[in-house]
Amino acid sequence: MPPENQSNGQPSQTPERADRLWSEISQRLRAGMSAHDFETWFRPLAFRLEDNQAILVVPNHFYSEWIKERHQDLLARALTEALGRGMGVTFELASGSASLASPDPAELGALDLNPVEAEPVSPLAPRYTFKNFVVGPCNELSHAACQAVSDHPGRQYNPLFIFGAAGLGKTHLLTAVGNHILKRFPAYKVVYCSTEAFTNDLLQAVRFDGVNAFRDKYRLVDGLLLDDIQFLAGRERTQEEFFHTFNALYESGKQIILTSDKMPRDIPGLEKRLQTRFEWGLITDLQPPDEETKVAILQAKAAEHGVDLSHQVCFFLAQQPESNVRVLEGYLTRIIAVSNFQGVEVTLDLVRRVVGPMLAERQVGLDDVMGTVARNYGIKVADIKSSRKTREVTHPRQVAMYLARKLTRASFPEIGKAFGNKDHSTVVKGVKKMEGLLQEDVEEAERVRSLERILREGGVAAEPRGSNGGD
Ligand code: ADP
Ligand code: MG
Repeated sequence: MPPENQSNGQPSQTPERADRLWSEISQRLRAGMSAHDFETWFRPLAFRLEDNQAILVVPNHFYSEWIKERHQDLLARALTEALGRGMGVTFELASGSASLASPDPAELGALDLNPVEAEPVSPLAPRYTFKNFVVGPCNELSHAACQAVSDHPGRQYNPLFIFGAAGLGKTHLLTAVGNHILKRFPAYKVVYCSTEAFTNDLLQAVRFDGVNAFRDKYRLVDGLLLDDIQFLAGRERTQEEFFHTFNALYESGKQIILTSDKMPRDIPGLEKRLQTRFEWGLITDLQPPDEETKVAILQAKAAEHGVDLSHQVCFFLAQQPESNVRVLEGYLTRIIAVSNFQGVEVTLDLVRRVVGPMLAERQVGLDDVMGTVARNYGIKVADIKSSRKTREVTHPRQVAMYLARKLTRASFPEIGKAFGNKDHSTVVKGVKKMEGLLQEDVEEAERVRSLERILREGGVAAEPRGSNGGD
């Protein structure tokens, strides 16, 4: 059967439109029956429009019988209201069972499955709250959106998508929302998890026949907070499952919040339908903090340690080009430790002594460049070093060459050698080509700039699982 028939003079029905309609219809259905009934009889259905007919795909006959018997009127009303006119309903039997495909071996291989993680859904870290999140121009929009969402989960801004470079407070804000929701609505079930944990959990579920439990765990919640969604890159099986998780939550008006170090459209290998969904709600970003905000953050963090930092010290630290708050915190921890060990006050002198060498050490290496670029473009370092000539490899390779030249002290021949023994003229050409491209392609220029920032700040987007080495 063709997936889409000619429509009789009506606008063509995109899957997106059908999804949206179904979500509206679901909300109306939901309002008219118990949550349990809805979960049992309507959640498992698929919906599409075809030839002026609403098609409901049911797992077996029992569903259509039951729905016709008990929910016929409600269904007709929900359809009419959502579509603005009456429409016939046809039930269609799902072809085969909706069983899961086995996981992609490449995906399995990319993950360290042993030892089994006992509880992949981490409890919310209580230390991250709105109260100890310092608001400045760099983050006020994201902060406000998070507050709105935690006051009225599922109503506004769904999904909420927060993006920003490493160490700018994504996890902090995400966790703060979770903590706030649980405080306001203690009966709510809010799940926080990293995308890595979600992937692992899914693979375990598929392996050990726990898919239903997996689905219950992520779909029967009031809010799902998924951290570092950029790690969906290249994981088709996880994307497929997350697509359904997303739909289930979205349709029942549950809050979804996602964080990422990239905009949806910049996540390599992200399915279009997921990208679209991520853009349905609100996208906000976190920018590097300005000096004043850095000062306020440092003061707040020091106060948490019971230390009172002088303005002079705060300003000295804030003036460093470092904008990764995690790294700034690291400086602070070290300063406070030294001051405690030696029993001396935190003076500017002490700070210079402690932090000075760390600042000087901050040099970008060729491996950092290749690793960060490879990761960002969803390829391997080995691809960069290889002689493959397909564009998905040659382009990141040239980006890496360009950044290597810009950020390290390595010469052209040295770069060539590190990049898999390539001739120095190849490097020269690559760098030239990038310089030209960056003039023309604004979006790509922005992406490369953000990589440059990440490298300068010594930040990796997040801890990779296992090794991110050559192969
Ligand atoms: P990300 O998830 O974006 O990499 P995190 O949320 O883990 O960053 O933040 C890194 C550290 O910086 C955390 O300890 C967090 O508390 C702190 N931090 C970041 N931004 C702020 C802020 N605006 N106010 C207070 N602490 C912050
Ligand atoms: Mg984080």
